[in-house]
Amino acid sequence: MIAAAIERERLARAEQHYEACSLCEHRCGVNRRAAELGPCKAGCTARVFRHRVELGEEVELIPSHLFYLSGCDLRCCFCIAEINAFNPAIGTELTSSFLQEAIAWGRSRGAKNIQWVGGEPTIHLPAILRAMAGCEDLPSVVWKSDFYGTPAAFALLEGIVDIYVADFKFGNNVCAKRLAKVDRYVEVISRNLKLAAGQGDLIVRHLLLPGHFDCCYRPIVDHLSAMMPDVKFSIRGGYRPRWLAAHYAEMAEPLEPQVADAAAELAISKGLNVVD
Ligand code: SF4
Repeated sequence: MIAAAIERERLARAEQHYEACSLCEHRCGVNRRAAELGPCKAGCTARVFRHRVELGEEVELIPSHLFYLSGCDLRCCFCIAEINAFNPAIGTELTSSFLQEAIAWGRSRGAKNIQWVGGEPTIHLPAILRAMAGCEDLPSVVWKSDFYGTPAAFALLEGIVDIYVADFKFGNNVCAKRLAKVDRYVEVISRNLKLAAGQGDLIVRHLLLPGHFDCCYRPIVDHLSAMMPDVKFSIRGGYRPRWLAAHYAEMAEPLEPQVADAAAELAISKGLNVVD
């Protein structure tokens, strides 16, 4: 992609959120330029706490060059990024020169795309757009997100993102509130899946959580089979208890291997397009 596609008007629109932020559905409206902090605690600087070329993603994405940004709008007790996800002050400042150099490094290792991950990239959308706008020639862009952004955030990504990877984490609002401290989760993610599907390629990913097959996984399968049966559905079975997971009884142990088999069987029986 030519970075010039990230035009001045789009950058200006994105950076308005620094004065009254509604990039995510917390819609807290804080003035980030004045150091006011919303639930994500992000200011105006995005920081990369890790970047590397990975092979563990869905087959169509790899080798993928992942940029991990610190800070998040969710508070998942089982987050594998742990403190990095919740402290946006960690990492190296994301600038065009940093990104340009990193992209060259990733290309030399065979990466076929760059992938924005977190924490959560949406909370840093203005800084990401500005960094990409200053790069000569961008690889294709993958946006891996919790999908808790607002329609305004998705509008800023339209035409920029080639592939969305949506983390559909919870199948009901009670589990979302208990484990990730967010409201209206199912309504928000349902709306955003439709928005993303209208903008480009979409992979819906679900990390199977121990003890959440009937309350979360099954409703997600039902939801997708009713709403977007052809969407690529990626079932991840690698749950390990990390971060604060031990505080929640059912989350304290790894996932039993047979759960992943049962999950794949159910998705296929409902006609979903399960991808590796
Ligand atoms: S991204 Fe952060 S500052 Fe913006 S609305 Fe969400 S929580 Fe508030």
